[in-house]
Amino acid sequence: MQLINKRHLTFAFVLGFMGLLLNLMPIPLFGNQQLIIGNLFFVIVAVFLGPWYALLTALMCASGLYIVWDSWHPFILFPLEALWLGYARRKEYYSLYADIGYWVIVGMPLFYILVRFVLEMPDSYMFFTTLKQGINGILYTSLGAIIITMLPQRLHIAAKLKNQHRKSFNHQLSYTFTQLLTLVLLVSALIFSNLSINHQQLDVKRHLEDTALHLGKATETYLDNHISAIDTAARWLSFSAYDSEQWQSLLSKLHKNYPDFISMLIANEQGIVTLSSPVTNMQQSQDNAAFSIIDRHYFQQAFFNQITYISPVFLGRGFGNDPIVAISAALYLPQSPIAPIGIIEGSLNLAEFSQIYQRIPDKTQHDIVLVDENNLVIYASPALNKSPLSEFVFSSSGFNYKTSLAMLNIKQLKHKSPEFAYAKHIIKNGWTLYVLTPFYPLVMQVERQYFTTFSILLLSFLVTFALIKVVSLRLTKPLEAIAKKFHNWHQLEQDDTIFNDSTPQEIFTLSRSILKSKQELISYQLELEEKVAHRTIELQAANTKLRLLAEKDELTQLYNRRYTETHFPRLNDMCQRSCAAMAFCILDIDHFKSINDTHGHQAGDNALIFIADMMKQCFKRDTDVISRYGGEEFLIILPLCNPIEVKPHLDKFRQSVSDTPIPIGQNVNIHLTISIGAVYSDNHYHSDIDYWFKQADINLYQAKTDGRDRVICNQLTSNKQDKQSTA
Ligand code: GH3
Ligand code: MG
Ligand code: MG
Repeated sequence: MQLINKRHLTFAFVLGFMGLLLNLMPIPLFGNQQLIIGNLFFVIVAVFLGPWYALLTALMCASGLYIVWDSWHPFILFPLEALWLGYARRKEYYSLYADIGYWVIVGMPLFYILVRFVLEMPDSYMFFTTLKQGINGILYTSLGAIIITMLPQRLHIAAKLKNQHRKSFNHQLSYTFTQLLTLVLLVSALIFSNLSINHQQLDVKRHLEDTALHLGKATETYLDNHISAIDTAARWLSFSAYDSEQWQSLLSKLHKNYPDFISMLIANEQGIVTLSSPVTNMQQSQDNAAFSIIDRHYFQQAFFNQITYISPVFLGRGFGNDPIVAISAALYLPQSPIAPIGIIEGSLNLAEFSQIYQRIPDKTQHDIVLVDENNLVIYASPALNKSPLSEFVFSSSGFNYKTSLAMLNIKQLKHKSPEFAYAKHIIKNGWTLYVLTPFYPLVMQVERQYFTTFSILLLSFLVTFALIKVVSLRLTKPLEAIAKKFHNWHQLEQDDTIFNDSTPQEIFTLSRSILKSKQELISYQLELEEKVAHRTIELQAANTKLRLLAEKDELTQLYNRRYTETHFPRLNDMCQRSCAAMAFCILDIDHFKSINDTHGHQAGDNALIFIADMMKQCFKRDTDVISRYGGEEFLIILPLCNPIEVKPHLDKFRQSVSDTPIPIGQNVNIHLTISIGAVYSDNHYHSDIDYWFKQADINLYQAKTDGRDRVICNQLTSNKQDKQSTA
C-alpha cells in the first residue's frame, strides 16, 4: 500500500463526515423502511482514491446509520461495499456495474444472513427489506457516479482517476445512459410506488373505518332491536295484571320473535325467576330449587334503577353456563307505575353476533372483535381464537412506521412490527368494535412493487445495452467508414452506400466536408508535385550549368585547372594499375603577349579559342584530357598512350598550329607557334600533379630557351634522378 497522502486523507474524512450527517436524516419509505443517501460519499471516495480511503469514509457513513438504526450491520455491509468499489475502480470497472455486482453477489445474500440469523427480523419482511437494501445501494451509487461524471475535470484527483486503457465510445455511451437510466428509473419508481403505497394505505384505512362504522351501526341496531323488544314487552306486561299463563304465553311469543335471545325470564321483586322461555329451562331450574337472580346486575339495574339495561358480558347460570349479555327492564303493576314488581330479561346468545358480521364484503381479510365496557370479548372472529368473556389483550405497534394506519399486535405483544391494522367504533352503550386486517398482505403488496421495480430495472439495462449498440453503431460505423475512405487515398467519389436513412445529418455533412477537403488536398498535392517537377528540371539544368562552370573554362570550353587537378590522381591511378604509359604535356603559345599588344585582347581571345578547338580535334580520345591551365598555357594529359608515339604526335600538332593561319578578326589571320614541354612514363607514377608538372615545365622552359616552336619530350625520371640531373 502506498504512503498515506494528507490531502487525500482530509478529502476522505470530510466526505465521510458529510455522509454521516446525511445518513442521520434518512428518507422514510413504506413501513419502517428508509432510504439512505449519505453513502454516495464513500462511492465518490472509492472512485477517486481507491479502497482504503473509501473504507474510512464508509465507516463514518455507517456510524450515522448505527445511530439511526441502532444496529451494527451497517458496519459490515457498507465498508465491504466501499472496498469492493475501490478495488473494482482499480481494475477499471465502472462503479455502477461493480455495485450492481456487489449487491447481487455479496450485499443482499450477506444482509439476508445477518438479518435472518443475527438480528432476527420477522420473516414476512425479509425479502422486502433485502431487496430494498440492494435498490438503495444501486441508487446512491448511481447518484455518486453521476456526481463524478458531472464534476469539472479540474476537481478530479488526476493521479488516481486516470484510466490506463482508453474505453470505447460504445462503452462510454452505454455507461452514461445506464447511470441516467438507473437514477431516473429508481427515483421515479420509488416516488411512484411510495405514492401508490400511501394511497393504498389511505384506502385501507378508509375501508377499515367504513367497515367499523357500518358494523358498529349494525351492532347498535341489533342491540336496539332487542332492547326495544324487552322494553316493549315490559310495557305490555305492566299494562296487564300478573297472570302466570298469559305472561308465559306472551314471553314465549316474544322469544319466538327474537330467537337470538338464548333464554328469557321474568323475575319477581325478590329476584326469584317466576317465568322463563324456553319453559323447559324453568322446569330444570325448579328441579334444583328456587332460582334467584337478585345478585345479578341486570336485576339490580332494572329493578332498583328502573332503567332498560344492557349488561356487559358475563357467564350465565341457571339456564346453562354460556357467556351472555343480558337485557333487562322493570315490570310494574298497571295502577302503580313507580314501584316495580319484577323484571323481564333476555339473554343474548353471543354466537348470534356472528350473523351481523356475515355482511362484511371480504371476510377473509377482515377480523372483528367486539368487546364490552370491561374490555371482555363479546364476539371475536374465529380466526383470532379469542373466546367470549376473555379479556381482549393487545398492544399498539408500528410506532416507527411511516403509515397513516393504526396498528396493533395480538399474538406477539412485544414485537415492534405490526400484526394488524385496525379501526374501531365505540357503540353507544360503551362497547367497542374493532375491525382488523392483517398487515402482512400490505407488505406483500409493497414487496411485489419493489420486485417489479427491480425487474424493470434489470430489463431496462438489457434494453439499454441493445439500444446503445444500435445508437453507437449508427454513429461509429459511418465514422469508421469515413475514416477508412479518407485513408483510401484514391477514392474520391462520395460513396453513399455506407449511410442509410438513420445516419445522423452531422455525419453526412462531415463526410461531405472531409471528401471536399480531401479533393482540395489532392489537387493541391498534384499542383505541388507539378511545381516540384518543374523546379527539379530547372535545378538540374542549373546544376549542370554550375558543374560545367566549375569544370570548364568559359572562353575555350576546355576543362579548367581545378578539374584537371581534381581528376588527375584518378588518371594516374588508372595507368598505374594497368602499368600503362601516361604523357603529361604543357603547351605554351609563343610570344602571345605581342598578339594582344598588336591586335587587341579580343584577337588574343579568338586565337586562344581557335587553338583550343584545334587541340580538341587533335587529342580526341575519350581518355585524353585537355585543359586550359592559365592564360595561354594548356595541359594535355594522355593516359594509356604509346610512349613512342607521344613526341611525333605532339610535333604533328605543333606543326599544324604553325602551318594554320589563325583568324583573329574580320579578314585578319595570323600565324602562331607553340612550345610544348612533355614527359611520359610507364614505370614511374605519382598522384601529385605538381610532380609531373615540374618536369614537364623544365622541358617547356628548355623548348622556350631553345628557340620556341618545338617539342621537348622525355621519360619521367624518379625524384632522385631528378635531383641528380638538376645538380
Ligand atoms: P613566351 O614566348 O616567352 O611565352 O612569350 P609570351 O609573350 O607568350 O609570354 P608572357 O608570359 O610574357 O605573356 C603571356 C601573355 O598572354 C600575357 C597576357 O597578356 C596574355 N594572356 C594571358 N591570358 C590571356 C587571355 O585570356 N586572353 C588574351 N587575349 N591574352 C591573354
Ligand atoms: Mg606563358
Ligand atoms: Mg607564351
